[in-house]
Amino acid sequence: MTQAKIAVVGSNMVDLITYTSRMPGPGETLEAPSFELGCGGKGANQAVAAAKLGADVVMVTKVGDDIFGKNTMHNLESFGIDTTHVTQVQGTSSGVAPIFVEPSGENSILIIKGANATLSPADVDAAEDKLRQAALILMQMEVPLETVYHTIRRASEWGVRTILNPAPAAPDLDVTRLRGLDYLIPNETELAILSGRETGDEAGIVDAARALMAQGIGHVIVTLGGRGVRLVTADQVQAIPAVQVKAVDTTGAGDAFIGSFAHFLTQMGEPVAALHQAVRFAAHSVTGRGTQKSYATAAEFADFCR
Ligand code: ADP
Repeated sequence: MTQAKIAVVGSNMVDLITYTSRMPGPGETLEAPSFELGCGGKGANQAVAAAKLGADVVMVTKVGDDIFGKNTMHNLESFGIDTTHVTQVQGTSSGVAPIFVEPSGENSILIIKGANATLSPADVDAAEDKLRQAALILMQMEVPLETVYHTIRRASEWGVRTILNPAPAAPDLDVTRLRGLDYLIPNETELAILSGRETGDEAGIVDAARALMAQGIGHVIVTLGGRGVRLVTADQVQAIPAVQVKAVDTTGAGDAFIGSFAHFLTQMGEPVAALHQAVRFAAHSVTGRGTQKSYATAAEFADFCR
């Protein structure tokens, strides 16, 4: 079966994970027992989740002129993702995230956006040919907000559906510039920040979602961790429970959910059926360690659903 194309306009990062017995103090040099390098970034994670399920994915992103940029490019290609519009920026570092993990499991994370901060509206226009062919365009917020607004505007002109995952939460996001967006997918915290409302109970969640929809957004899907998701439209609210599993590592569950939802939406054509599949895919991802490596392939997912 030919797959509908999914385009991701978003970020890539390389996670530099140091496992340490404790954090060093100012001026102190400390030996740490181990180190791991991982490919991440919300855009790349979501692209990989969809690609592992068999989607035809194109990614529009920027890397720096360093070994991390090359690593990211190879990683995306290893999943069959189209990297025609992954460009390398001279004189800039790639996006990296030094992460320090202490024995208690406590994480301390620094984010350097690097080349991601230079992804511009002109880069979106340069990818127009590929973006117009897409069934949908997926975005997050680790790239400049102007690029997100521009992509939504161009996609509505082209008649291409759009999904925005407003993460990490940016209080300066101008919701009025999301007019025409088809799906906004925040978690509970992001929903509270964007709407400026309390989201402590179900009624609050629905009110906050409807306040955002009043700005011209088609659907709001709120993710609630182990409590599942809520699909809010103008006239209905659907609660989709999470699938009960033994969680080992929930890192990247949100990206698993969103990338797979994009894939299932293009396959199934309507959101409720797609959400039931996406909560299964995200649940599977929390049963394994890591981010991209915890995402199931189509075959592994079929086994998990049996
Ligand atoms: P984020 O990481 O962006 O805050 P969530 O924690 O809401 O996202 O997780 C996204 C989705 O992943 C949830 O709506 C749920 O379907 C699934 N999920 C997350 N944690 C678990 C869990 N412990 N068990 C089962 N599913 C989970």
